[in-house]
Amino acid sequence: MSEFDLIGRIRDRVGSRADVFLGIGDDAALLRVPPGKLLVVATDTLNVDVHFPADTAAADLGWKALAVNLSDLAAMGARPAWCTLSLSLPHADEAWLDGFLDGFLALAHKHDVALVGGDTTRGPLSICVTVHGLVDPDDVLRRDAAQVDDDIWVTGTLGDAAAALVQLRAGGAADGALRARLDRPTPRIEIAQALARIAHAGIDLSDGLLADLGHVCTASGVGAMVELDTLPASSMLAARFNAEARQVLQASGGDDYELCFTAMPTQRDAIGQLARGHDVPITRVGRILAGTGVNCVDAHGQPWHAPRSGYVHFAD
Ligand code: ADP
Ligand code: MG
Repeated sequence: MSEFDLIGRIRDRVGSRADVFLGIGDDAALLRVPPGKLLVVATDTLNVDVHFPADTAAADLGWKALAVNLSDLAAMGARPAWCTLSLSLPHADEAWLDGFLDGFLALAHKHDVALVGGDTTRGPLSICVTVHGLVDPDDVLRRDAAQVDDDIWVTGTLGDAAAALVQLRAGGAADGALRARLDRPTPRIEIAQALARIAHAGIDLSDGLLADLGHVCTASGVGAMVELDTLPASSMLAARFNAEARQVLQASGGDDYELCFTAMPTQRDAIGQLARGHDVPITRVGRILAGTGVNCVDAHGQPWHAPRSGYVHFAD
């Protein structure tokens, strides 16, 4: 299999959209951007052993590579439209590519995203996806718009993916439900677009709640208070880890790809309705305060400090 055989194999399987004027095959793709919309662009790379365990199934990797990118679009309140895929592969392995495409295209199909181009090279396994979405200028969800007295909310549950990594590092297999959260995150695309209309600021949780909320606070020039006891946990996480270990994972574990957003307390009913309508749990976990930094308190109101606050590349 040559580079061109691989590209042909990808091209044979991709879907399209009416707004793709020209997809895979030329030097670049041609896309129709509707007037009045902003084009939203995000890119994320997955490297073996840094972003995923080397034993990750090809189909899970395909799903995750797109999911983490769609999560960035969700965090801007955008509707996804197109994507490109840059693959660095150690071998031209067709079975691996087919599996990868199974996962990648399943998620692309679910959200009507067209794969319109990319690059294919030989090298250590690395996957770089760029996604393009559209958003109304009035409905953008940004990091720099949190306001003092806003509630802080998170979607879904926190800590499962980090828990799976803890189990893997301990040398065993991870519980299926936890491993599934690590391998197949759910980008909160639909509900994010609805939330963007009523929320002030938002971010997706890739590096851990405290770290990512810290970015919102820095960008907005505010501080935050998080109540550790309110952080939502899945039943599997609660079953497998004691409260102390669990709360560390929920507050500072990465790879959740849930949304964290802030909104005025007058929006509580509206947020509850969206949660029910989309069947996505949304939990209030704290408040935006004047000042700087994210402070966490335990059930007794005592300051709580995470042993580590999130993953930072090049930090060590
Ligand atoms: P060029 O040499 O002009 O960069 P390539 O040979 O890299 O062109 O790519 C040929 C076509 O195949 C382009 O349209 C490119 O976008 C597409 N393509 C290459 N690799 C991928 C990939 N991994 N996924 C989707 N499209 C790809
Ligand atoms: Mg190229």
